[in-house]
This record gives sequence, C-alpha cells and structure tokens, in this order.
Amino acid sequence: MRGKPKLAVYWTGGCGGCDVSFLELGPALLDVLSQVEIVFWPALVDTKRADLEELPPRSITATLVNGTLRTEENVEMVRLLREKSQLVVAFGACAHLGGVPGLANLASREEILRTVTGNGFRLAPPPGGDAEDSPPELLGAARPLADEVAVDYTVPGCPPMPSLIGPFFEALLSGDLPDPGHVFAQEQALCKECPRTREDRKLTKVLRPHEALPDPQECLLDQGMICMGPVTRGGCGAACPKAGMPCTGCVGPTPEAGDPALAMIAALGSLVRAGDEGPAAFAAEDRVLDTLVDPLGTFYKYSLPVYVRARRAA
Ligand code: SF4
Ligand code: SF4
Ligand code: SF4
Repeated sequence: MRGKPKLAVYWTGGCGGCDVSFLELGPALLDVLSQVEIVFWPALVDTKRADLEELPPRSITATLVNGTLRTEENVEMVRLLREKSQLVVAFGACAHLGGVPGLANLASREEILRTVTGNGFRLAPPPGGDAEDSPPELLGAARPLADEVAVDYTVPGCPPMPSLIGPFFEALLSGDLPDPGHVFAQEQALCKECPRTREDRKLTKVLRPHEALPDPQECLLDQGMICMGPVTRGGCGAACPKAGMPCTGCVGPTPEAGDPALAMIAALGSLVRAGDEGPAAFAAEDRVLDTLVDPLGTFYKYSLPVYVRARRAA
C-alpha cells in the first residue's frame, strides 16, 4: 500500500454512539490517526458532500459506515461512498443488521411521522410550500447497509467495542486483511467467554432484569433472565453478563444460530422442558414463553430488518 491509507467515516440513521466509540480505543486511537489520512468524516473534520464528489473513484482506501439506512439521502450517500472506496465496512449493529432503529419497521412510515410530528404530520409539501417544508424523505423501512451496497467487512456491536475495532485497524494498517465478508468478532457463542457458571436449571419463569437481583456467579439464563449469549457471537468479553446484565445480542447471531429468535426459542424450550417431553411439557413451555414481554424487541433488538423482511412496513 503506497502512502497512508485514506479513511472515511460516515453516519447515516444512527445515534452517534458509533462515532464516539473510536474514543474507547484510548491512546491506541492516536496511533491509528497518525497512520491514516482522513479524507471524509463529517463528525470530526469539516468535510462536505461536495468534497467527496470531487474525489476520484476508489481513491478512499476504506470507508466505515455506521447507522441504518432510513432516508433517500442515506442511500445516495452510501452509493457515492461505495463508488469512491476500495473497501466499505459496516460499522456497528445499525449498519450490520439494521440496529435498534430497525425496530421502527414494526410501524408504518406514516405512524412514525405522526408520532414524531403530531398533528402537523404530512408527507408532501403543504399547498404552496416547497420541498424544504417537508419531513425528510423516509424509506419505506430501515435497512442494513448491505441491502444497498456491497459490504467488504463488518465491525459489529452497539457500539463496536475496542476488542472488535482494534483487530480491524490492525488488519487494515498491516495490509493483512481477511477474506471479504469477514465479521470482526468470534464465530463461537458469547457463552464460551462468559465467566458465569451454567447448570442448565429447569426454567419456570422469565424475569426482566429489574425484577430480581441476580446471583453474581450463576448464568443469568439459568436465573430466568433472557440472555442472548447462547446465540450471539463472542468478542466483547461478555461485557454485559460480567456487569450483571443479560446480553441483548448487539454483536449479532453466530453463523450457527442464524435467525436469533428461532435459535433462542429453541434454547429456551429445551430449558423449560429440561428433559420432559409430551403434551404437558409443551404446555409448560407455552406458559413460560407467554410470560416473555416484547418477544420481537427481545430477540430482534438489533436485527429486525434482516430477519423480519416480509413484514416490512410500506
Ligand atoms: S449501532 Fe448502536 S451505537 Fe451505533 S449508531 Fe446504531 S444505535 Fe448508535
Ligand atoms: S449469562 Fe448469558 S452469556 Fe453467560 S453463560 Fe449464561 S447465557 Fe451465556
Ligand atoms: S454482552 Fe451482548 S449486548 Fe453486551 S456488548 Fe456483548 S454482545 Fe453486546
């Protein structure tokens, strides 16, 4: 690679946490910044769309996109960035899987706008008004980055943690990049790196985190809390279970798990039945799972746009 790698970072429909997450690298961030040339990063340096448009095709070594695709402008910008970049990286759960903003796909565009703007809601300019008087052009649904452009790599998480960002920059700066499609996280489940002890106790009820003070050593799932650890990629060091909170799955499902809801329901079912079979065992499974509040928001907290495509709102 001749000269310093040219880096771009762009934020579409997200909360800004991914842009801030680079700071978590601490002093290592200074090393990274000294080894790259930032050519476009609106949150950090004064760069405008016009600056990007003037760059030759493929002149950016790597562009990190965070946020979900929610507006027409998001789509225009990621297409432009794709054209100007050798590598495009989905950075964070929103770009990777749609993220938390993707839960809005359970509502229609009109319902979202009416909730946000109240009775002043409108999709078209008012009579005599111009386009600037209108709300932003929302897509029919939130979409992950790979829905619109080819994605070379993924740095997952909400936001990505240093243990996942660091290996990406090491690979980029050394030129020793993995095969395209690589996700900078473990393929094995989070439970493998969690220090809590598992005994596969029979599950008799589902608890929300505020309903009990968990035992500090024992697996949270064994204690009745919905911890997504069995179906989520490792790589964060089990940050949430170590702090007494169940994993909500921000790094995304393991390749083996696939759809996180189906995989977790299967895991929960086996914990409820705990070796029992027959109609009574399955009725018990239904009773316990019926106590789960907000199953879609629990199982697809970060990935609804990927796994519930058929129900996308128009
Ligand atoms: S992945 Fe999380 S931290 Fe990053 S933009 Fe989305 S909601 Fe914010
Ligand atoms: S607390 Fe969660 S991550 Fe840890 S072992 Fe239990 S299910 Fe797995
Ligand atoms: S424990 Fe789960 S929710 Fe917490 S950071 Fe790790 S993958 Fe994300």
